[in-house]
Amino acid sequence: MRRFAIVLGSMAGGILAGLNPAMAASCPGNPNALGTSRTITVDPQTMPRIGTVQYRNSLPLNDHEVVITFDDGPLAPYSNRILDALAAECVKVTYFLVGRMAAANPELVRRIYNSGHTIGTHSQNHPLTFDQMAMPRVEREVTAGIASVQAAVGDPRAVAPFFRIPGLLRTQQVEHYLASKSIAVWSADEVADDWFKQVTAKDIVQKAMSRIEAKKRGVLLLHDIHPATAMAVPTLLRELKARGYRIVQAVPPGDRPKALPDAPATLVASGDKNGWPRVTKTSANIVESVPASRYKTERKVVTERFERRPKHWRDDRHRDPVVTSAISRKREKTRTTVSDAGWTRFAH
Ligand SMILES: [Zn+2]
Repeated sequence: MRRFAIVLGSMAGGILAGLNPAMAASCPGNPNALGTSRTITVDPQTMPRIGTVQYRNSLPLNDHEVVITFDDGPLAPYSNRILDALAAECVKVTYFLVGRMAAANPELVRRIYNSGHTIGTHSQNHPLTFDQMAMPRVEREVTAGIASVQAAVGDPRAVAPFFRIPGLLRTQQVEHYLASKSIAVWSADEVADDWFKQVTAKDIVQKAMSRIEAKKRGVLLLHDIHPATAMAVPTLLRELKARGYRIVQAVPPGDRPKALPDAPATLVASGDKNGWPRVTKTSANIVESVPASRYKTERKVVTERFERRPKHWRDDRHRDPVVTSAISRKREKTRTTVSDAGWTRFAH
């Protein structure tokens, strides 16, 4: 009888572990976390091209398994908001970082890595001409992007041999080159149109969920440089959990450093106004480098100062340097969206 009870107990434990994989141990403080159910090792030799948006094959995922990926960053404050949301749910994802963005935000690159996410690359400058460029330029974009991300993270072994072509503008030549370097080319199984102008967080969640529900699994592509995406991620994670989806993290073969020392405080990059990345020195970037508590206080002070002004001052928003920078940020964002118009060809 006693033995029977032990067997029953271990069975129940097994069932619970299946339903709620290692959640209690891996996500302290959030017993209902979505969590990360397992990792999948992606070897570029056996999985050179991934994602049914463009290829025949994708990752060998089971029913109701999703791999989440983020492109184009890192960029404060949005990447940080997303990292916070992922940490709250103990969800591990894969990032495809742009070299110049990584060089401008090395502390964010290290935060991504030290949070346990996988880091791949997405070219040095994000040109939307991979299907037109001469191969020497393609090779420079790929290798410089990898070198920038490796330098930002501080350890070459921390960067996975995973590459996503900007705009998914693939050619066979580009794919052959990447295969020759043992780099896996990542497309996607689902996109959420989160780079579209004026898209809302609600739209992003709806599109992501309906496209995932259609295939019941897949590699989801998002961008961690957009405010709407940052707002959508917490809801998206809750929706995935509510509909019984599990998160799988893609990792490269071989050993990776466990954790890297945090980067020393760095200056905010002024960026290049004429090209990618569209990183401007904004108040948001500066605020991001101070602790969260101070951030809230500063936001409040700025708001109060703004509200106290006479109405004609408030209407003339260019008088307020904070608001002016917010407007210029919005303009930069618009340019980013416009320049990414090539993506629309993959919209479902
Ligand atoms: Zn991109």
